[in-house]
Amino acid sequence: MAHDPAHREGEFDLIAILRDRVAIARADVRLGIGDDAAILAAPAGHQLVMTTDTLVGGVHFPHSTRPEDIGWKSLAVNLSDLAAMGATPAWVLLSLTLPDADRGFVERFADGFAELASQHHVALIGGDTTRGALTIGVTAIGFVPDDQALRRDGARVGDLVFVTGTLGDAAAGLRCLDKRAANHADLAAAPDAVRESLIARLDRPTPRIAAGIVLRESASSCIDVSDGLLADLGHVAQRSGVAIEISSELLPASPALLQTFDSSTRLVLQASGGDDYELAFTLPPDKAPAALRDLAKVGGGATRIGRIVDGAGVRLIDESGAEIVLAQRGWEHFA
Ligand code: ADP
Ligand code: MG
Repeated sequence: MAHDPAHREGEFDLIAILRDRVAIARADVRLGIGDDAAILAAPAGHQLVMTTDTLVGGVHFPHSTRPEDIGWKSLAVNLSDLAAMGATPAWVLLSLTLPDADRGFVERFADGFAELASQHHVALIGGDTTRGALTIGVTAIGFVPDDQALRRDGARVGDLVFVTGTLGDAAAGLRCLDKRAANHADLAAAPDAVRESLIARLDRPTPRIAAGIVLRESASSCIDVSDGLLADLGHVAQRSGVAIEISSELLPASPALLQTFDSSTRLVLQASGGDDYELAFTLPPDKAPAALRDLAKVGGGATRIGRIVDGAGVRLIDESGAEIVLAQRGWEHFA
């Protein structure tokens, strides 16, 4: 993009910081940052999988978030979408909109971004740098063997529903940052270490890449939990033309969540809190034992939380089978 000359110079400095700090070499990047566009060699026998997600300061993360964490998270939410497709991440583009040419911010942002990029060997191949309200747009590209991607539309009646890791920590972490602490007496009483572990789940989500790859063999559908379990499973139900029954007592919780909240608050956080970036997926019953064994090997494991039935929509039920209606189904804005 064209800018005034003074700003243009600053912009090139910032691009150099990003290029140098997120320096992951891949043989399939034939031309990286520095030309009008990147050139990539796509692997034979594979399909490309692409996704983009934008994080707006003050909307998707509080302005107080550390730049390193913004860098990590802006990549993590995109890698999570690739994980949900069963894709192996490879390349990433970064559109950075900054209020001013703040070197310190970009250095710290780049370090957090690079930390996650190097874990998954993802190369930064280009992007755009502009001035405006703090906004981070990331486009991530990965690949899957031909026709093996996971999708939302394959769940069938009789399949079992699972989720990786635990649910609700990120939403609890968001509450920890809420200045209206009086609303959250449970959190005010929590030890610092517990609050920090919850905030870390919010700031540094773990994209479940290895789990997504394992699930290509067996899962009939998959989605990542970004807006809240029930809201996201609603997309699976709709796309697959089925109904989903989730058993409240089966939802997995971390020790931090268990020790901090009573069961009804916990349930709201687990079922409707967003930002967990776990994978929710369905398995035909005969494929479940082997898939769970394979998932346990790649870390995090998975828990059965429900089943696919005839009908439409998502129902949360208690042990007697009665429906539990939550006041709120998805996404909690921070104050
Ligand atoms: P153009 O004007 O042709 O779009 P730019 O001057 O915007 O090119 O960008 C120059 C090079 O720097 C390109 O290779 C572009 O992809 C890369 N680039 C720009 N901003 C970023 C960024 N935030 N992160 C990574 N690469 C970037
Ligand atoms: Mg150009």
